[in-house]
Amino acid sequence: MIVQLHRSATNEEKSNIDSKVALMGYKTTLVKTQMGEYLIGIGKREFDIRQIGRLPGVADIHHVSDDYKLVSRKWKVKRTVIDLGDNVQIGNGALSIMAGPCSIESEAQIEATIAHLKKNKVSIMRGGVFKPRSSPYAFRGLGKEGLQLWSQQAQAAGIKIISEVMQVSQIAEMYDHVDVFQVGARNTQNFNLLDELGRIDKPVMIKRGISGTLEELLSSAEYVFSGGNEKLILCERGIRTYEKASRNTMDVNAIPILKEKTHLPVIADPSHGIGLRQYVEPIALASIMAGADGIIYETHQQPEQAFSDAMQTLDFSESQRLIERARKVFDLRESF
Ligand code: PEP
Ligand code: MN
Repeated sequence: MIVQLHRSATNEEKSNIDSKVALMGYKTTLVKTQMGEYLIGIGKREFDIRQIGRLPGVADIHHVSDDYKLVSRKWKVKRTVIDLGDNVQIGNGALSIMAGPCSIESEAQIEATIAHLKKNKVSIMRGGVFKPRSSPYAFRGLGKEGLQLWSQQAQAAGIKIISEVMQVSQIAEMYDHVDVFQVGARNTQNFNLLDELGRIDKPVMIKRGISGTLEELLSSAEYVFSGGNEKLILCERGIRTYEKASRNTMDVNAIPILKEKTHLPVIADPSHGIGLRQYVEPIALASIMAGADGIIYETHQQPEQAFSDAMQTLDFSESQRLIERARKVFDLRESF
């Protein structure tokens, strides 16, 4: 159960509501976010929620049977829009495109990518500076210096940045330089990291775990939301299955299911989803048809030279074609 509290609710009213909900046999938790206050009730007993709904201090009350509550669409039918400023929004009913290299590598690469994005009217650039790599000997990113270089150029060009945060100490290092913090598939259930991201006021995109269920993804989002930060985006990036023909199996099913279960925007990552350059476009287009609010994918001026994920990275002409087709497919979907 979610009890939305009035902004003006007094402490006395809140504790009265809390004890009445507890009397119904529910375990209560008070959640304060940057946008509101909620009393979460965990329990099973059926009762007429109007008994609580009538109490002073209550703005609204909803039964939410899912284990995750605040990210559920059962209480918030209106979709969440993430505002990055300068008219860049995610989940606002337009197609969001985020593109860039797997890893930030050099100043020249940053410049070339920004020019490519601007030419194609794409306003969000992706790129990793702290890279989770399966091998400790692989390139692990340019770190904070790379991020500073990148953010200077991106800000000058009016381009927003999304980049992966791997541990709590990096949040402060990255804070002034990124517009969206990405939680990677290997960290989807790093609950300490999620708790800390709940304390900041910048958007967070959480990727689905490599073997994670949708319920686990939604519960991870619930961590950040209940920690105080409602600015959340979910990302389907493929899961590990027994299939060896592709790097991962892009779970296109996840997209309409998530859109029904949550009010948060849902982004598709076809690059990690299939892992092979020649299939990135069809999987991106399929994800858009399935209802994704946007796509995030890897592109590089010379993919074969990329320091990481070269096999799944598009060159700029492939990227341009994908952008054009993605917009067409999105318009087609919206015309239905
Ligand atoms: C990435 O986006 O570069 C990345 C490492 O993705 P994932 O966490 O989905 O593997
Ligand atoms: Mn990558």
